[in-house]
Amino acid sequence: MAPCYDEKETRPSRERLREQNERLAEMIRIGYDASPYVKKVIDERGLTANAIKSVDDLEALPVISREKLVSLETVRPPYGGLTHPTLVTDRIFTSPGPVYEPHLSEHELWHRGYCAAGFKPGDIVLNTFSYHMVAAGLTFHEGLRSVGATVVPSGTSGTETQVQLIRDLKVTGYTGTPSFLMAIIAKAGELGFDFRNDFNLRRASFVAEPLQPSLRRRFEDEYGIDTYQMYGATEVGDIAYECHIKNGWHLCEDVIVEIIDPATGMKVPSGQLGEVVVTRLNNKFFLFRFGTGDLSRIIEEPCPCGRTSCRLDGIAGRVGDAVKVRGLFIAPSQLNKLKENFRNYLIQLVITREDFRDRLTVRMASTDEITSKEIALFDRVFQETCTIRPDDIEVTTTAELEGDNSLIIDRREWK
Ligand SMILES: [Zn+2]
Repeated sequence: MAPCYDEKETRPSRERLREQNERLAEMIRIGYDASPYVKKVIDERGLTANAIKSVDDLEALPVISREKLVSLETVRPPYGGLTHPTLVTDRIFTSPGPVYEPHLSEHELWHRGYCAAGFKPGDIVLNTFSYHMVAAGLTFHEGLRSVGATVVPSGTSGTETQVQLIRDLKVTGYTGTPSFLMAIIAKAGELGFDFRNDFNLRRASFVAEPLQPSLRRRFEDEYGIDTYQMYGATEVGDIAYECHIKNGWHLCEDVIVEIIDPATGMKVPSGQLGEVVVTRLNNKFFLFRFGTGDLSRIIEEPCPCGRTSCRLDGIAGRVGDAVKVRGLFIAPSQLNKLKENFRNYLIQLVITREDFRDRLTVRMASTDEITSKEIALFDRVFQETCTIRPDDIEVTTTAELEGDNSLIIDRREWK
């Protein structure tokens, strides 16, 4: 597939950074005058609107979680004092909380994601996101329109209706969640169709739900559907999208993404796991440092596709589900990835604390003998996957690990 780029996606990184710094400084200056909330946080910190000039200066501002946004909006409806008092917007969305969001951009949102996924004029795409109240339906609709695709706004119609639309309209693409596409495929089977041979649906772009590698293989190998992922949040719009290399998601041009330690709000060293915090560059909604609660890390190595933006290494889980060992997050999804690579082993992590230091022991067991060479390989892959080195690797019996099948046992006491 010929990749679809635009000039911004392939410009040198320093140009992108320069533009982002300029737009951020402008957003802060306008936000300080327009938004009572922004003025308050800057004044409280003894800063001036001119003090925040670059992406690195953002650390001086607090992270705003979804819960915090709900409480700000409850006190000062509808936008918590985060917009200009005279804001005019074409649409207002809601998401659970409730949170109210002004529509941020007339165009460009999700455009690059659909472009990178290969959607183009001539495609007829089923948009299965809800058009009611929430942002999803309409914003993905516009993203698809921006690449010239024809949209079937099927929304939350039942699977039988979706199958009928795919058949009657010769639908070529899908956008929605992976689980709903699987449900549609299952319904088609029940109705006596052979999904791959009877229908034309060959491309899918997923958002809002993780795509398990095993499900991706089924879509691609069994049903001949080329699959892509995009990532975003209603509060900030699109954040990242997958290219045809399918190894990480490129950061969008109009967002600043920081990976932080939720305990301190400070950036973690490059390549480490932390919370995804997003600032969308715009002069309507002054939501600086929105904390998504999602865990990921940044891939800085250049992507073979030619885009020069950094990539997010998927979503490793939610902040609350991960454990922190020696200051580094380990998420259950990382351990599941490890288990996929070492299918013959049972694995368990035990975390203890000795002399004020965390100690990480990995216990492993197999029905076959585990050689020292295998242990060394496991040690190396563990470090690559989890970015932390175990203190000990302990080989034990399968009976013992099956007795307590928790993946992570945290025995630390904080006295
Ligand atoms: Zn790429």
